[in-house]
Amino acid sequence: MRDMIELAEHLRKLGTKEIEPIDERWGICTEIGFKFQLLDIFLNKQLLSLMYKWPKASGNFFYPVVDSCFDSPKSALVHTSNCWSLSPYGDDRRELCIWLSKQLVSMFHGPLHPCYCAWNKDYDHDWEEQDDSFDHEFGTEQIYFNLCLRCLATTEVDSGDLGECYDYECE
Ligand SMILES: [Zn+2]
Repeated sequence: MRDMIELAEHLRKLGTKEIEPIDERWGICTEIGFKFQLLDIFLNKQLLSLMYKWPKASGNFFYPVVDSCFDSPKSALVHTSNCWSLSPYGDDRRELCIWLSKQLVSMFHGPLHPCYCAWNKDYDHDWEEQDDSFDHEFGTEQIYFNLCLRCLATTEVDSGDLGECYDYECE
């Protein structure tokens, strides 16, 4: 199971550009397959099925990332010399890495979770406040949330000027 946590961490770092892919011609699966040679086929299949559920997925089981310059996600991957470039295509691949990482983290709970503290029998997240506020013609949309730097869990701090309450209203 340690592998899963390392895998989630590796994907997160790829997504945030903290690390570079081993070969920029490779997609996520080849990168992961090369980096984690101990991972078995089963896990690779699991990864692919997870990617298939990504909200922006292409619908092609083996090639989840779409590049609008190519007529199929397969030819995009095959013909792009750098599929991690600073382009919408590369950005989508990085977004998928982060999404995958979160999915993997949410799959393990309790003692296997990277933020679980066995001593307190509780989660000890490494929160950092994030500011995703942006300006628009009617003012500023204020979006603040806390992000755990270890497991990528998030909590909403303030839901902005829409007057809507997201997290609290159901309680
Ligand atoms: Zn955490």
